[in-house]
Amino acid sequence: MAIPKCPHCNATRFQLTENEPMDANYKIFILHCVGCGAPAGAMEYIVPSVLIAQQEKKLLNIQERWSRLTGQNGGLAKVDSGFDYAANFSSVACVA
Ligand SMILES: [Zn+2]
Repeated sequence: MAIPKCPHCNATRFQLTENEPMDANYKIFILHCVGCGAPAGAMEYIVPSVLIAQQEKKLLNIQERWSRLTGQNGGLAKVDSGFDYAANFSSVACVA
């Protein structure tokens, strides 16, 4: 397996640092050479798998609250419009 080397100083160790680019409203990670500090790459600050897990937790919370709401005293099974909310939204699928 090839070992990545810094093109400036041939060091083989790199580190991530958090950076907020000027005039930007977001952060990124920059991969720097440990030997000379030269940037070797940039990565998104937000990790998609963490965001998906957070959204899944929120959806499950909404589903639980909705189940309690529709289950109490007949809940909101049928509202004025006649639309059967309980039948149509009794389960919330979470596709990850
Ligand atoms: Zn270097």
